[in-house]
Amino acid sequence: RARPRPTSPKPPSIPCLRPIPSWRVTSSSCPRRPEEEQGTMSDTKTPAVPAGGRASAKKELPDHFKDYKNVWVFIEMERGKVHTVSWELLGEGRKLADKLGVELAAVVMGPPGADLDRAISDSWAYGADLAYVIADPLLTDYRNQPFTKGLNDLVNTHKPEILLLGASTLGRDLAGSLATTLKTGLTADCTELAIDSDNSLAATRPTFGGTLLCTIYTLNFRPQMATVRPRVMAMPERVEGRSGRVIPFPLTMVEENIVTKILDFLPDLTSNKVNLAYADIVVAGGMGLGGPANFKLVTDLAQVLGGDFGGSRPTIQKGWIPAERQIGQTGKTIRPKLYIAAGISGAIQHRVGVEGADMILAINTDPNATIFEFAHYGIVGDALQILPALTKAFQERLT
Ligand code: FAD
Repeated sequence: RARPRPTSPKPPSIPCLRPIPSWRVTSSSCPRRPEEEQGTMSDTKTPAVPAGGRASAKKELPDHFKDYKNVWVFIEMERGKVHTVSWELLGEGRKLADKLGVELAAVVMGPPGADLDRAISDSWAYGADLAYVIADPLLTDYRNQPFTKGLNDLVNTHKPEILLLGASTLGRDLAGSLATTLKTGLTADCTELAIDSDNSLAATRPTFGGTLLCTIYTLNFRPQMATVRPRVMAMPERVEGRSGRVIPFPLTMVEENIVTKILDFLPDLTSNKVNLAYADIVVAGGMGLGGPANFKLVTDLAQVLGGDFGGSRPTIQKGWIPAERQIGQTGKTIRPKLYIAAGISGAIQHRVGVEGADMILAINTDPNATIFEFAHYGIVGDALQILPALTKAFQERLT
């Protein structure tokens, strides 16, 4: 039985927030330990914000904050390839910069050469107005020390108001050390970024196991830093022919001062094969499949559709499928054109990872399963029968 989704409009670019607005809290209203009473979660020196939220705690921003201007996005480049999350962040950064009436800058760091030049021109195409470029052979492979030093010096010289990085392995490593050396606040794994009425960055992220959304402000320090996971923000449209200014910046470091040495590079061939986050079609299974053997029904359908496959967290915890295939809050965020969820209940922690999909088809025996509240189409029935029937039907149609 296929039933169209209830009439609510398609979720906007910030999927997880729409259904639970009443659960949203600001960090200032989160319970705090007595020693935290003097500040917000990201800024312990800020005077306590009164109950009732940030609106009632408006204050003049310190004068020296005026030196900090523009929105920056760190362009993550590894072995010549830019991580797509950087373009997604330029799309989001563009909105923030327009709201503030400032410029959007790309920060491009790497060895001099064609790849660096391409990353700069791609940054124009995805919305940057200018690019700060640190071109140095020491930045050939990612190492925390030279990247932190270069970016730290650049921030202290050119003073951005907001600095965004991808919540990738590299981005998380760099963001943490940079926020520490700059002594500023960092909000990690954000699902929504907005500009507040006093021009502060309102960075929202799930908390308490994904059951609450917390909006965090960095009130007393600059820049305001945030990381966002791949696929959480929509990919911006590429505009050919755009260009901008290049501002070169030196890396004042020599190899002898870097403690980490790259001896060799061994590509991780296994995890490179799993590109769930960027697949156009994803079929996933949950505990409703009953056991690991039945996952073949999921992989068969994914294969016929030319898509990829994943699963809910308990299927990973039980060892039915590998960890890199987990979808959801503590797994991958996906944004496919089609997502088929079989035997998945639709818990909030799963939902936040899939709500960006263009179309969600849920298969579940329980007509009251939560997943039907946000799926576009639902089939109430046994996944063990419906999955092979779909595979057969698509096989006949597509061959
Ligand atoms: P269940 O909740 O057991 O649901 C199984 C569903 O299958 C039911 O709806 C049932 O009606 C249906 N069913 C049963 N038999 C059939 C059948 N034959 N055919 C069709 N349907 C059938 N979960 C994630 O998925 N990803 C995460 O990243 C994640 N992170 C988490 C982080 C934290 C901090 C916490 C606390 C939890 C997290 N979870 C995550 C777990 C999450 O809360 C749920 O427990 C989990 O998503 C449930 O998995 P499930 O839907 O496969 O299983």
